[in-house]
Amino acid sequence: MTEHSTPPDLPTYDDVAAASARLEGQAHRTPVMTSRTLDEELGASVFLKCENLQRMGAFKFRGAFNALAKFSPAQRRAGVVAFSSGNHAQAIALAARILGMPATIVMPEDAPAAKVAATRGYGGQVVLYDRYRDDREQIGRDISARQGCTLIPPYDHPDVIAGQGTAAKELIEQAGELDALFVPLGGGGLLSGSCLAAKALSPRCRVFGVEPEAGNDGQRSLREGRIVHIDTPHTIADGAQTQHLGQHTFAIIRRDAADVLTATDAQLVDAMRFLFTRMKLVAEPTGCLGLAAARAMKDTLRGLRVGVVLSGGNVDLARFAGLTAG
Ligand SMILES: *Cc1c(COP(=O)(O)O)cnc(C)c1O
Repeated sequence: MTEHSTPPDLPTYDDVAAASARLEGQAHRTPVMTSRTLDEELGASVFLKCENLQRMGAFKFRGAFNALAKFSPAQRRAGVVAFSSGNHAQAIALAARILGMPATIVMPEDAPAAKVAATRGYGGQVVLYDRYRDDREQIGRDISARQGCTLIPPYDHPDVIAGQGTAAKELIEQAGELDALFVPLGGGGLLSGSCLAAKALSPRCRVFGVEPEAGNDGQRSLREGRIVHIDTPHTIADGAQTQHLGQHTFAIIRRDAADVLTATDAQLVDAMRFLFTRMKLVAEPTGCLGLAAARAMKDTLRGLRVGVVLSGGNVDLARFAGLTAG
């Protein structure tokens, strides 16, 4: 992909508010959960936005539905194509089914079996590729060109960003203003949308993106002031195995995010165990990035009001058991 010389057309908080209206009655207003144990551990008031309990199991339904709901009648007839390591695939498939349009999904052949099966279950037509060898964006573009359908990327799209921002909007409405917000980071749709919501609704809030330590391209991009590309990182956080931020997401993150932090796979497993045993919540590894970083930063959070987005819960039972046992 070539880097744009002109700045991309960036969504604003008004787009997040409009997305919120579109999602009314379609997405769940997910619960915000608290835990005394967690508050004591961090010396803070911690509010977990449970997007693991969202429809199809992750916040991605928000951005997908918002983007598809804005299609013209002609676009709806031709349908949508998407490439995704899993949750965006299911989100597009489900949103397309609700809106009555065909969906083709390009997925890595090593994606968790439950995610592939769920995508097919929602009626999506699945095309598999090798994530360490093929260029999924090219495959998606080829299908789009051949079938005339609209490509909706997993994060670098104004309507996707605006939709993802509705999770943080709700969190702040439900919990009140925050001092800090920790958000999982892959390609940056969730983080950039969260920045738009927080800046408008809780201006003092510092918004942190959290990515896997093995794939810290976002952190490096922030430090270097340009989008850093990396090889597909090897991490259990399969929803954040992205190789680079997007043009739109980077512009917003660079402008609005306080910092990008990292979490190790071991910290993610520890957070999964904590959520399951103490809060009876099932989160997938990627979903725990924000919580893992907040727990690692505890000494600096004393007395603060801290939001954490638990971004998803799609992990099969065998994998959950394998990661958390012992
Ligand atoms: C996609 C995804 C992320 C990362 O979101 P981006 O918008 O790509 O940064 C985090 N957690 C889960 C569960 C996801 O599915």
